[in-house]
Amino acid sequence: MKRREALTRMAGVAGATLATATGVRAADGADDAKKLTPSGLAPDRNTKIPGFKAPPGSIDTHCHIFGPAARYPYSPKRSYTPFDAGLDDFREVHARMGIERAVIVNPSLYDIDARVAVDAITASDGRYRGVVNIDDRVSDTELDALHKAGIRGCRFNFVKHLGGFPDMAVFDRSVKRAARLGWHVVLHFDAKDLPDFYPLLDGLPLPYIIDHMGRVPAKDGLEQKPFKILVDLLQRDKKCYVKLSGADRVSSTGAPFHDAVPFARRLVETAADRLVWGSDWPHPNVKTMPNDGDLVDLIPMFAPDAGTQKQILVDNPMRLYQFEA
Ligand SMILES: [Zn+2]
Repeated sequence: MKRREALTRMAGVAGATLATATGVRAADGADDAKKLTPSGLAPDRNTKIPGFKAPPGSIDTHCHIFGPAARYPYSPKRSYTPFDAGLDDFREVHARMGIERAVIVNPSLYDIDARVAVDAITASDGRYRGVVNIDDRVSDTELDALHKAGIRGCRFNFVKHLGGFPDMAVFDRSVKRAARLGWHVVLHFDAKDLPDFYPLLDGLPLPYIIDHMGRVPAKDGLEQKPFKILVDLLQRDKKCYVKLSGADRVSSTGAPFHDAVPFARRLVETAADRLVWGSDWPHPNVKTMPNDGDLVDLIPMFAPDAGTQKQILVDNPMRLYQFEA
């Protein structure tokens, strides 16, 4: 996206947020009724009980809560409308997966409105943390309050299907402010853009997590340039973390996504002390809806050794998200 388009978009979002805060949003009801029809696939409600038993205290570092929209309205400027997937469903899917703790990643469709994540964290008795979207509209006082509420990172999307690159001046200012709080930044890239961002990542003033194994297409193999860049970053930049998630997004052959395993294995061999795992429930914008039980059963294929599993599922995210023991 060109910078001017990005700025126009930012201005639009700011206006929309104000409208929401003052209750003006009801005025565009007709438009909203159409927009509230979910697009894409509904999550699979029949989560299988996985064969793999995750170690105690395991953390799912990438999952979302969507609504219900009636209580937590989606931004009018959002790029998609999901099926509602609220806190009760969120708790149930983790109980079935055998995962005790979670990091709620506030999706782009909530813009800078963090209420759905903060409310869930507040009710979690220390079992949840969160990651939110921030920009210049969020004041320092608000950032401090988010930190106090259990937020430990911010996220920026660079993927085309969610609107393309952010305004980079806003990005620079935001990550500096996040660094002050001891946060990290979560980055969502399309694989093909990774080589271009290499210098930017290198110079970041805080740790960063690259989502979904860089979304590298499995069919392009382990020697593809974006994956080599990812492995190289993980190897030589101690600020770099990679999220073992989105096997379904990496896979070219479909469920049960075994063609994503060699990529995860290579990352585990490279730096198991800087990997985290995430389910990505309830899986917005996927072409094939995965079953979360199947995704948990990929973990021992990614990392066969129990010590390494504990590093990825417990130790690394505990450190990054400052969970209490
Ligand atoms: Zn996600």
